[in-house]
Parts: sequence; structure tokens; C-alpha cells
Amino acid sequence: LLTVDGVARGVLAAHRAILADPELWRQARGRITEGAPAAAAARAVLADAASRLQSSGHAHLAERRADLRDVERRLLDALAGAVERRIDLPERTIVLADELLPGELLALDLDRVAAIVMAAGGATSHVALLAASFDRPMLVGAGETLLEVADGTTLLVDAHEGWVEIDPPAERLAAYDAARAEALARRQAENAVAHEPARLRDGTRIRVECNLGAVSEAQIGRRAGADGVGLLRTEFLYLDRHEPPTVVEQQRLYEAIATTFADRPVTIRTLDAGGDKPLPFLPSLEEPNPALGLRGLRAGLERPALLDAQLQAIASTGVEGQCRVLVPMVNDAADIVAVRERLRLQVPPGRSQPSLGVMIETPAAALQVDALAPHCDFFSIGSNDLTQYVLAIDRLHPTLAGRLDGLHPAVLRILAMVTEAAQRHGRDVGVCGALAADPEAVAVLIGLGVRELSVVPAAIARTKAIVRGLDLHECVRLATAVCASPDAVAVRQAVRRFMHERGVA
Ligand code: PEP
Ligand code: MG
Repeated sequence: LLTVDGVARGVLAAHRAILADPELWRQARGRITEGAPAAAAARAVLADAASRLQSSGHAHLAERRADLRDVERRLLDALAGAVERRIDLPERTIVLADELLPGELLALDLDRVAAIVMAAGGATSHVALLAASFDRPMLVGAGETLLEVADGTTLLVDAHEGWVEIDPPAERLAAYDAARAEALARRQAENAVAHEPARLRDGTRIRVECNLGAVSEAQIGRRAGADGVGLLRTEFLYLDRHEPPTVVEQQRLYEAIATTFADRPVTIRTLDAGGDKPLPFLPSLEEPNPALGLRGLRAGLERPALLDAQLQAIASTGVEGQCRVLVPMVNDAADIVAVRERLRLQVPPGRSQPSLGVMIETPAAALQVDALAPHCDFFSIGSNDLTQYVLAIDRLHPTLAGRLDGLHPAVLRILAMVTEAAQRHGRDVGVCGALAADPEAVAVLIGLGVRELSVVPAAIARTKAIVRGLDLHECVRLATAVCASPDAVAVRQAVRRFMHERGVA
């Protein structure tokens, strides 16, 4: 029915992977053997899986529930013999929906869709990735009241600024039309060169890699033009189960990603359970303050058998030197020395030691790069956690979210110390937190000495385009200036001026 490529193919591969999941089949067969009809069994098994994702407490994983609902919808249609049809739409339709599922989006005649507005949904859901890949503006979490807008009403949607205007005047519509045509042409041009390496105007190479949270996302990242995987969050391996994944099981999954990325680097982070990522699999302690508790490597060193199995799987995957180990929530040299020793024992005979990286996520690690550098090969800045700990603002806090800005000068001054010390020790520094994908952060991070940005797949083309418009010396001057700004608002103003003057949109 559908001829799709790129991100869409990756999302459908993710749906096929759900359908092929042996554990889901086992549960469904069990229910059918007990007498449940096939449709009821499928519905119950997928609903169980969805509620496990929901209770993971991990926003990224909770967003994957939409994929399960989508698979369920299509599976039930198939069982009932229903045929999927494209919905006829008038030209330049704005689709208002509670939450559109990926398959529902693909069933729309997208040539006739000008924008999509969802009352619910998340910005990193697959449907949002799909809309971005088709250059369709999508606004998520717009609230229920929009669903009351009558069919046929004229709407103006600015998905970038995040608003919808009902019945706008004609001249505003015309101005937005022109801006939209320009933006569309720019995106197409960016996508056309997303697979090429990104260099600054002076020739400096900036690697733009992708963050992955599941094996099924590898195709999405690769097709979006990633130069490698800068961060594989491995928490997905441990969800939905009572026994830890075996070394062989992990190897198979890591190998699938390594193969997708051919000879490009794949950075695999060891389990980062705890804090904002509680895992039902590990009975969590009753901690008064989980963000400051047993999380990341701290939890790993409490359960060394889990850590060792993971290190062994990473050390024996991919072409020689392709897979790198990245360790979350390191605080001091003793942490990384402990991992280095364990890793050494897990490398199979005849293979070399994989590169070992430290995530800079705590102020303690950021201030001690000198002490960490002799024991590791590279650094990756986890700006989500580093910002949380430097600004003392919970990364999940709903009302303080507006003040949690990685471009706060306090964070930038710490980053300057990290990159300066890492350079002295000849260690590369990347950023794999959300700051790397923020268009207003790219020039500053490069000016501070960052040479690797790992971003969500949807941000690869854009990030590479920004990189190509910048010059290293100008970025250094900008970074030096904004470190002295009074607050994040002033930093952002300075960056906007800088980008505007250089025509980097
Ligand atoms: C970070 O903290 O910036 C990071 C990349 O790790 P996570 O968001 O998974 O904690
Ligand atoms: Mg983190």
C-alpha cells in the first residue's frame, strides 16, 4: 500500500520488530491457548506492553506506546479483513487530531496536508519524526480545546513558535505563505546534503552523530545522515523483563546497530538506571532524592555482573574499534579506573580494547577532567544532567522547565573548563545531551572546543546546515563573549544576533 523511504521505512521497521517480538508472541499464544480469541489476545498483550512502557517513567520510552497502539490498530484491522484506505483531503488541509499514530499519518495524502496539530503527543515520538521527515509542520501537546474548532475554519499554525491562530487576516496568511515556501526550500536543500560530512567554513570537521534509544531507531538515524552513533541509551534492553539480557542477546542487538552504521563509530552507554530512569527490573531503593542517589555507574558498580556482561558484549561487537564504551554518572577517577579494569577482563582474546569514554554529567566530573583524562579515551558531555546539577533544577520539574537552560553562562563556563582541560590531554569532547540539537547552541559549543554533536535523528540535517555556515574563529569569539553574559536570555540574544549577521538561519 505504501511506498516509503527514509525515516518512514525506519519507523515501519520498528513496527515490524514489535510484530516479530518472540516474547509478545509467547504471551499471545498463551492467551489463545487459554481460549481467548486472537484479537482479544493481541489487544491484551499489547496493552500490557504499553503499560510497562508507561510505568518505566522514561518519557522517551513512554512515547513508544503510540507505536504499540498503531501496531494493534493495524493488526486488528488485518484480523477483521479491513482494507486500509487513504483519506481524501482538500488542498492545504490542517489536520487536528487527539493523537495521530504513525500509520495514520502515513495513510494521509500528505501532499494535501499543510500542518498537523495534535492535542496530545510528544516531540520525540515517531509520528513527530515522520512529520519532520515529510517537511510537515507538527504541533504537539496543543490541548483539547483545539479539537472543538469547526471543520473548514481557516487556521494559521506556527509549529516553530508553538501557536495556532483561528481565522487570521489575509495579509498575515500571505506573509506566512511566503515564509513557509522559503523554509521548505531550505529544508529540502539541507536534507539533500545531510549524508555529507559537515565542515565549518574554515574546513574544521564537526561530526554530527545520532542518539538512539532502541535498535529499531538505527535505520532512522542512518538514513537521516548520522556520521555515527554518539549515544546508544541501553535502558531499553532491561525493560519488560525479569532476567537481565544475556551477553549473546546484547551482542546480537549491538551488532544489528553496528552493521547498520557500517564502519562508523557506535558509542554504547552502559546502563543508566535510577534517577529519572527508574527500571522495574532493578528493585529500586526507597531513595529520598533519586537524582542524587544510586544511579548510572553508581548502580552499575553495585551490580557488577550486569556491568561486566554489558562490557563483554560491547567489547566483542562490530568491526575492530567500531564500538566505544561510554559510562554515565562518573564522579571521579576511581569510578573510571574501576570500569577500565573490569573492561580489560572482558575483551575477548585477539581483540583490542574498545575506546572508553566518560560522560561529563556532574560538576565533580567537570571540574576534574585533568584527573579523569589519563584513564579514558574521550569525553561526552551529558548536558541534560550537567545542567540539572549545575543549576540545581530538577530536569523533570514541570514549572521550572523554562529556567533549565543549558545555555546558562554558569553551564557554559563549566563547559569551557572541560574542553580546555580535555584539549590539554589530547582527548576529544562531544556533547550528547539535548543542548547539541539546539540550533542556538551549536556555534557556542563549537567555539568552546566541541567537535562532536550527537543529536536526535530529526535534527541531523539542520545541525549540519548550521555547522556549514560557521567559522571557527568567529565561534570562539562568540563563546568567549557569552560566557560573560549575565543569564541564559542574554546568551540567546547574543547568539541570535550572531547568526542573523552571518545569515545562518
Ligand atoms: C544527558 O544527561 O545529557 C544524557 C545524554 O543522558 P540522559 O539524558 O540519558 O540522562
Ligand atoms: Mg544523563
